[in-house]
Amino acid sequence: MQKGQQHKFDVVIIGGGAAGLSAALRLPTSLKIAVLAKKPGEEYSSYWAQGGISAVLEPDDSIDLHTADTMEAGAGLCDEQVVRFCAAAGKPSIEWLSKLGMPFTRDQQGISESGFHLTREGGHSRRRVVHAADATGKALQQTLEAHVLERDNIRFFHQHIAIDLIHRERKCVGLYALNRKNQHVDVFGARKIILATGGASKVYLYTSNPDGSTGDGIAMAWRAGCRVANMEFIQFHPTCLYHPEAKSFLITEAIRGEGGILLLPDGRRFMDSFDSRAELAPRDIVARAIDHEMKRLGIACVYLDISHKSRAFIKAHFPTIYQRCLDFDIDITRQPIPVVPAAHYTCGGVLVDINGRTDLENLYAAGEVSCTGLHGANRMASNSLLECLVFAEAAARHIAAEIDTSGRMPVLERWDESQVTDSDEDIVVAHNWDELRRFMWDYVGIVRTNKRLERALHRAELLKSEINDYYGNYKVSADLLELRNLVVVAELIIRSALARRESRGLHFTLDYPEPSDDFLAPTILDPVQNGRSPARLASI
Ligand SMILES: Cc1cc2nc3c(=O)[nH]c(=O)nc-3n(C[C@H](O)[C@H](O)[C@H](O)COP(=O)(O)OP(=O)(O)OC[C@H]3O[C@@H](n4cnc5c(N)ncnc54)[C@H](O)[C@@H]3O)c2cc1C
Repeated sequence: MQKGQQHKFDVVIIGGGAAGLSAALRLPTSLKIAVLAKKPGEEYSSYWAQGGISAVLEPDDSIDLHTADTMEAGAGLCDEQVVRFCAAAGKPSIEWLSKLGMPFTRDQQGISESGFHLTREGGHSRRRVVHAADATGKALQQTLEAHVLERDNIRFFHQHIAIDLIHRERKCVGLYALNRKNQHVDVFGARKIILATGGASKVYLYTSNPDGSTGDGIAMAWRAGCRVANMEFIQFHPTCLYHPEAKSFLITEAIRGEGGILLLPDGRRFMDSFDSRAELAPRDIVARAIDHEMKRLGIACVYLDISHKSRAFIKAHFPTIYQRCLDFDIDITRQPIPVVPAAHYTCGGVLVDINGRTDLENLYAAGEVSCTGLHGANRMASNSLLECLVFAEAAARHIAAEIDTSGRMPVLERWDESQVTDSDEDIVVAHNWDELRRFMWDYVGIVRTNKRLERALHRAELLKSEINDYYGNYKVSADLLELRNLVVVAELIIRSALARRESRGLHFTLDYPEPSDDFLAPTILDPVQNGRSPARLASI
């Protein structure tokens, strides 16, 4: 029987999204690099990014302004040095992408000096979002992938799920990864490893993210002894299509901008009793109001109605949404759209410094998996792709400066499959997936309370021991690996939320509805030593 293979690379990058591919292209061509991705390109967030990438490009804008806007959105928890660093790196990053052939939409009216068509999104005081029509992520992904495939020094492993990092004396030396094609576990030796595994929004029942966003990198880094920060700050998009067969379809906020009205199932409007701006209130307020009504009334969704506009107007302005809803027998020119808020972005993650370095020697993190200090308590739109580009470059630069390719790499043990059997109870995994995502939605969602968080923690602990038991006895599968990571991430989110006894940015709790100066710092959880309760945290 074919067994798992052994590989050796100078650098292994776990993740083939915007952060992972940028890092691969930024590293010197003299290095032997592996990029691991667990699924094809459409299965992760970078591909789906719509809006664009923020960058200071026009004379009426400045690094100071971009910094101030980001800090304002971050509600006091951004690291100013990091914010400035990213704001300053915006323009060179866009120039780099342009040189690679990224098809950014150009300004046709001669308004912008940069030549790019720029949009303005929530929180930005200037037009500074460059984009490729309304499919920026797809264009970005295709541009980066085309260049990666041309490089002889980069090998792409499209179907490898990293399981765990291998480390010795707080140095990362490699990792195990499940090869989905033959179901064997390969071992990768590496001098340097970059985690670029994306976010963890799949921990919630409703999410705008594709299936791959299961927080694998955060869980792996935590198990390997790295600190994790700000996990309580999960950004929710207010309106995602609610339909049993529609996964992750966002209904753009522009519908509300064009007069769309939010309704309860009995046809009553409700946003005006939450905020004087009603449907035009900021995204967090709208998401919170919908959540409040859903929980109060025990309803599965609310409705977004634009049918009072003419059919021609709707079809001209929202052709994709019109068509997509029609595919599910919802004619938005005649009836309201069922919507729910959905987990959209993980602001926290593996704690890194300005070079993308984690707590383990040789281990870096870039993109949504990381917590750099850029977003603080709330992410400003289009800063996330910027962060992917900037920190991928920072990590690559640091690696290039310090990697030594002359020494021998340690011999790593192969994965031991001899003690485990094939499972005949996959239903257990499927059930636990559902249970976890449901209680995270119900108890750790947009509006929190201590009681709900404690209840969720109890459930998470039970699930974790069941999953670990299962993991120890049966052969690993993709679903099991993701579930094992999701339960770790769930616990990190709950513990971070419990630790923050105030409301700030994206974290809102009815027990402490106001911000407090006592909590003007990131929430940092440490698996190795933690003043509060080391044994409990170490066991996550
Ligand atoms: C619908 C949508 C719209 C968005 N719009 C915007 C926008 O307009 N502007 C903006 O700035 N941001 C936007 N975002 C956020 C932004 O797209 C993401 O934050 C960003 O793309 C994350 O990139 P990444 O490289 O960190 O991770 P991802 O793009 O999620 O890539 C993760 C990679 O890691 C791999 N991976 C994960 N786990 C493992 C494992 N265990 N083993 C091997 N490989 C693994 C995956 O297969 C994938 O290749 C949007 C997000 C969504 C969902």
